[in-house]
Formats: sequence, C-alpha cells, structure tokens
Amino acid sequence: MSQHFLLSKAARSLSLSAVARMSEGEAREAFTAIRWAETAGKPFCPRCGCASVYAYASRRIYKCQGCKHQFTITSGTIFASRKLPVRDILLAIAIFVNGAKGHSALQLSRDLNVQYKTAFVLAHKIREAIASEGVSKVGGNGKPVEIDGAYFGGYIKPANWREHRRDRRLARNQNGKRRCVVVMRERRGKTLPFICRTEDQAVPEIKDRVAAGSVVYADEAGGWEPLHARYLTKRINHKEAYSDGEACTNQAESFFSRIRRAEIGTHHHIAGPYLAAYADEMSWREDNRRTSNGELYLMAANAAVKHPTSKQWKGYWQRRVIREAAE
Ligand SMILES: [Zn+2]
Repeated sequence: MSQHFLLSKAARSLSLSAVARMSEGEAREAFTAIRWAETAGKPFCPRCGCASVYAYASRRIYKCQGCKHQFTITSGTIFASRKLPVRDILLAIAIFVNGAKGHSALQLSRDLNVQYKTAFVLAHKIREAIASEGVSKVGGNGKPVEIDGAYFGGYIKPANWREHRRDRRLARNQNGKRRCVVVMRERRGKTLPFICRTEDQAVPEIKDRVAAGSVVYADEAGGWEPLHARYLTKRINHKEAYSDGEACTNQAESFFSRIRRAEIGTHHHIAGPYLAAYADEMSWREDNRRTSNGELYLMAANAAVKHPTSKQWKGYWQRRVIREAAE
C-alpha cells in the first residue's frame, strides 16, 4: 500500500517554528508580500488603487497621495482593526491549517497566549475567508455528484434513572436545536455543504446548486425521490450495501466523518448558528487534503487579505445583540 499523503515529505512544506521565530518586521514583510503580490509587495491605496503612497517614518501607516486615505497593512482585509502583532496572525493561520480535523479556539488561545474570545474570533475570521473561496455550484456535464445529509447538535443527555428517560428519536422529545448538514460532493471534485432543518427540506436548494446534467447518487431515504425528476439519479440502499460497485455515497460520508470528528474530537460542541462555518471549513480541508501545509497556509493567508472586513466578526464581542421580542 502506498504511503499516506500526510506521512510523505511533500505534505510538509511549512515550518511552524520558522513562522514563530519571525521578527515583527519580517512578519510584516511576509504579510505585505502576500497582500500586495501583484505589485511585488509595494503598497497601493485600498480605496482608490493609487500607487503613489507615502509611508510614515514615525508610525506604521501609509497615506495615499491621491485621496489622502490613511491605511495600515491590514486595513480593508479581514484582519482590519487588529490588536495582535502580524506575526501572531500568521502563526494562527499556520496552526489553523495544520489541524486536519480543525483546531479549537481554546487550544489556539493557549498556543498564542491570547484570550479565548480573541482566538474564537480570529479562527472564525480565517474560516470566513477560506469559505469565500468555495464554489456555489457543483456538477454538470454528466459529472457524478453524491448527496447525503447528517444531523449535528441538539444533544439531549439521557436522564439518570431509566424510567425518566425519553425516546430521543422522537421529535417531541428533542430540543429543536438539531440541524442537518446536507452535502453535495463531486467525485474527485468540489464539496458544497449547506444547512437545513431536515434532510427532505434540502431538495429545492439541491436543485439550485447542482447543475442540470449531473449524475446524482443518493441513499434510500424517501426525501430524495423528487431528485429523479431532474437528474439521472442512482440510489444505494444502505441496508443492503454501502456500494454496489457504482452507486454509493462514500465521498459524502467521508466529508461527514471529518466534520463529525471535528465536532466530537476538536470542538466538543458546535452551536447551530455557526454550523455552516464549520461545514465550509471542513469542505475546504476535505477538498485540499492532498495539498501541502505550506500551500494551505498561503491559500488561507491569500483568502484572508483578499476578503473584506467581516460584518459578522468585526467587533463581535462588542456587538449589540438585538433579540426579537417574544410575542
Ligand atoms: Zn487613495
């Protein structure tokens, strides 16, 4: 049997210690090289695109000669308004991409010696950036696309005494927090997950996201019946076999395996509103599982500097939570 990719030398092209040893000046240089790659690291104005930029001698800011806009190396990126040194941000990206099953915010907070809240938001900013690189449609031209759903969250602890326990499979005994991740995964291609309440609510979105002309593979669940009207759909009955040689949803299951391990082993709990972010992260990891960590680091850093300031994560802990009045 051939060697697993992650054991091979090709999988290791990033040295965490090299990133950690960078001085702040070196880290800024590395960051500018990624951010302004098209001008070989020479800053230009993020507002008007003017290349005539003045660097202050006393502070680490730039001023555009054209529109007088002042900016820093992280202005306009997902790391805008940062307080952490640039080196720590690069280190966070390097640590983040190394975790095949994700990296928990608590662990990141200890790695970087920052508060849990800081690490939580930082990891989510990286997640948002890499998710924006994902696809919005899969399939087409006879491409095989596997579809399946799996449930996450809403765990109910069984009562201590047996006579107090309820059948947790019944809807009336659940807490309504459970969500379904439905995945559309091209064989040898891209993975596209989304969240809904139940598997059978997923069909309209699947019709939207899976291009006509795809060959769809799904399991025996009744909710997938409407797919036959639109796609050449092949089903596999999991009560009989996981694969009949052609029809299987093993690629979709493989994605679920990764996100399940991330939930149970890494994060321990994924709250419903954030499930989509974790699903997107895991699809990125799944699609790039044969990419070296050095490349992953550059891909994530690139996505982060190209991604505008996050509406959801900027000032997250200072936000005003507007709760709808209970009626
Ligand atoms: Zn300008």
